[in-house]
Amino acid sequence: MNDCRKTNRDANVPEGTDFFRGVLRFTSRCETLTDEYLASESPQGRISTHEHLGTLLSLLDRASSCWWGCRRGDHAGEMLVGRCCSYGLCVFKLARSGFYDESVSLARTVGEITNLAVLFVTDPSALQDWQSVEERTRRAKYSPGAVRRALEARSFPVPVDQSRYQQLSGKAVHLPPTIPPQMYNAERHPKTGGCFQETGLCFALAEIGYPFSVLGPCAVELCGLSGENGAKVCRAADALSKSLRALRTRVNASFPGTYS
Ligand SMILES: [Zn+2]
Repeated sequence: MNDCRKTNRDANVPEGTDFFRGVLRFTSRCETLTDEYLASESPQGRISTHEHLGTLLSLLDRASSCWWGCRRGDHAGEMLVGRCCSYGLCVFKLARSGFYDESVSLARTVGEITNLAVLFVTDPSALQDWQSVEERTRRAKYSPGAVRRALEARSFPVPVDQSRYQQLSGKAVHLPPTIPPQMYNAERHPKTGGCFQETGLCFALAEIGYPFSVLGPCAVELCGLSGENGAKVCRAADALSKSLRALRTRVNASFPGTYS
């Protein structure tokens, strides 16, 4: 029997800022493994989602910061798109460092905003209403569930529907007691954040790539882009969408049926 009273097990465990330094050294190793994995060729098809996501985020960052010119007004569309850009960068940063659950949690938030963006583009009166109603009404009327139902009621496509939302919520947000943290391995082992896991990386990239592939065309409308700038955003979103198949194939290889 291990007698903790006779050996000071904690003597060499870093605390204070040393703990953060130790964790950052650990995650730095994960970032290197992630970069090597994403740069590698594979018989199952090369992963390119991160490349296309980077291009789309760059374009949306420019659109949301009036880089191509300011059209004045309240900038409601630009702020919505700009917020998603920040989330998108964080999703990639977290996934690259091996914090997959946290990455997926933020990707779910981007999905919620994307649903809202689709509602605004397909029903411009909803955007005006969202801007003008008082806070309590806005929270109720434009909650993630209410937005999904509003899209369904109009027979509009719902980018992040109930089934997808529940999958993401169950995996990374609402914490059911039976799902271990960072469990993206065939052995079904829980892990700490910062450990490279191929399936975790592919799942996180697929889950951030998908909402951005839908948000891109919406951003063209919401930010009033026209001509070549709008076309560039649409081309980047289309390339991002097409890149998702390779990721989904890899996720299904470890967790069959995750994607149909
Ligand atoms: Zn402006």
